[in-house]
This record gives sequence, C-alpha cells and structure tokens, in this order.
Amino acid sequence: MRAARLHAYHEALQLDEVDEPKVSGPLDVVVKIGAAGLCRTDLHIQEGQWAEKSQVKLPYTPGHENAGWVHEVGSAVTNVEVGDTVIVHPFITCGLCRACRAGDDMHCENGSFPGINRDGGFADFLLTSARSVVKLDPRLQPAEIAALADAGLTAIHAVKKAIPVLGAGTRCVVIGAGGLGHIGIQCLKAYTPTEIIVVDPNEKALELARELGADHTVKVEGASHIQTVQELTDGTGAQAIIDFVGEKGAVEDGVAMIEDGGFYYVIGYGQNIDIPTIDVISREISFIGCLVGTYIDLQDLMTLTAQGKVTLHTSTYPLDAINDAMADLDNGRLQGRGILVPQGVREGAAAAA
Ligand SMILES: [Zn+2]
Ligand SMILES: [Zn+2]
Repeated sequence: MRAARLHAYHEALQLDEVDEPKVSGPLDVVVKIGAAGLCRTDLHIQEGQWAEKSQVKLPYTPGHENAGWVHEVGSAVTNVEVGDTVIVHPFITCGLCRACRAGDDMHCENGSFPGINRDGGFADFLLTSARSVVKLDPRLQPAEIAALADAGLTAIHAVKKAIPVLGAGTRCVVIGAGGLGHIGIQCLKAYTPTEIIVVDPNEKALELARELGADHTVKVEGASHIQTVQELTDGTGAQAIIDFVGEKGAVEDGVAMIEDGGFYYVIGYGQNIDIPTIDVISREISFIGCLVGTYIDLQDLMTLTAQGKVTLHTSTYPLDAINDAMADLDNGRLQGRGILVPQGVREGAAAAA
C-alpha cells in the first residue's frame, strides 16, 4: 500500500510503498482509509517537537484524524463488521485501566497513538482497535466527517470544559478560526449562551466565523486587535479564552484579552506560556490544558453533526499532495480543515461493502 512517511525531521514526507497492516490481536481492526485530516500537530511532528515525547522511530506514517471502512477484524471484534463506515477515535485504549474505567480515554495507561507514536492514517490502510471505532451511517462519506476525529473532537472537548464558565452575559474569545476554531465556534453556539468574539489574521477565516454565528470578529493586526477586544468587553476582558493557536504570539494576545479571574483554555501549542507568576496570582488566571477528547465526546459530536448543529468546512487533497497541503496549512492558505483522500479508495469501498 502507499503511505506518506516522515524519514527525517525538518524534511518533506515521502510517498512510499509499504506492507499493509494485518490483524494480529483479537481486538485489532484494520480500516481502509477514506479520508485523513491534516493537523497542525503534523507540522509540529515534522519540526521534531514530538520526537522526545513520542519516541517514535523513523521512518513512520503520521495521520491521526481518520475515517474509512472496516477492512479486516480480529476474532473477538463484535461491534463492527467488514465494510462498515467508521470514524476512528485517535487513541487506542485498553479499557481496563483506571483512566479507561473513568472514561478518560486520552490518559489510558496502556494507550498508543497512531500517527504520533506508531503508523497513522496518511496511507491506504490503518491498524486500530475495536474500542476506537465509531460505526456510522453508511451514507456518510469519510471525507465529509474525518475532521471530526481530531479537530472536531478536540474542539468539543475544550468547549465542554468551558460550559460552567460561559453562562448568560459572559464573553468568550476564540483565538483562531481554522480547522479547530470553526468547529469550536459551532460547539459554543450549541452548548452556551456566551457572546463569541473570534480573533484571526485571515479575513476569509473571519468571514466563515461570522457565517457560523460568531457575534464579533476581529482581525489580528499589530496590537489593534487587543484594543478592539478590550472595547468589546467593556475594558475588562473576556471570561474565557479558547486558544486554538498557542503559538506565534497568540498567548500574549490571549493574556491581554482575559478578565481577572478568567479561564484560559490551551488547545493549540508551540510557544511557551511566559507570564510572571505574580500576574497569575494577582489576576487569578487559570490555564487549562486540553488534549483531544474522549470517546463520548466523539459520540456527542456525531450527534451534533447529525442534528446539523456542526458542519465542517474542508479542502481536500490527494494523498500524493501531502506536502502541498502541509505548506498551505503552515502558510495560512488552508480554509477549514485540510483532508487527504487516497485515490481510488471509493472503488475499494464498493468492493469491501
Ligand atoms: Zn491533531
Ligand atoms: Zn486504559
């Protein structure tokens, strides 16, 4: 099969011919990839930011936002059958540890993360497990929903954490209206009555944010956007910042836009949070890390999508255009979420079904 693999940090991915993954454990599931979303984390992987944390051995295949059709199942798999359309929760979990028992999938003690510390979905096939697949309506096309597996999941997880903070009369600043942000805005609308202020340097992204229900949009320009948000929040700042960027100055901006006693949700990452601790205590700012989401979050998101409350905006690329897609994401040219669609996979799906 084909796989877009990283051979060396700071270098472009290469399209290689590799062996197809095979079922070996009883709960293994092999998914024929219908679509794989491109994430800013894939850029950070290429930059080597994950090398130490993931301990992954190169070359390997990134891609942690996957949907497709079940291709092969282990002997104990009962929740899906060959040919089923599925979305793949990005983490493979054991189901037996304390975190799994609590429903906190991302902190499974025995988990692994295809696309981060083992081969992911920028390929024709992906090996995952029965606990990670959510069976979908067969009419759904993977390219239409793959971005829910990580971008959407991460956005809904952060928004659900912020629900207690964002009652009537509150304001929430969303930093970044890209792949995650545009879903986050819709989740905020679905779950809270907060007034939504969206900050982004890209005019097209702001336009999309307005279409999706943002109350105010503010273009990042010099320092004027900080002033504008201050004016929109009566000079006090917002009760919550949901930061989908976390780099390139976003954190300084966010800290300047938050109310004393406010909650700062960190989702995007890349730069350090560098603020004097005396400001953290005197202003009582809480920083909250948000890592992907739970299996239940993914199910909730599929419900909101079925109800029409969350819709995805995507740009699709063939698998062999992976490096163009990554460059577009890096340069802010990508509208919504970038989706890689392996060529010829629709015919394959028809055959599998
Ligand atoms: Zn991601
Ligand atoms: Zn576990």
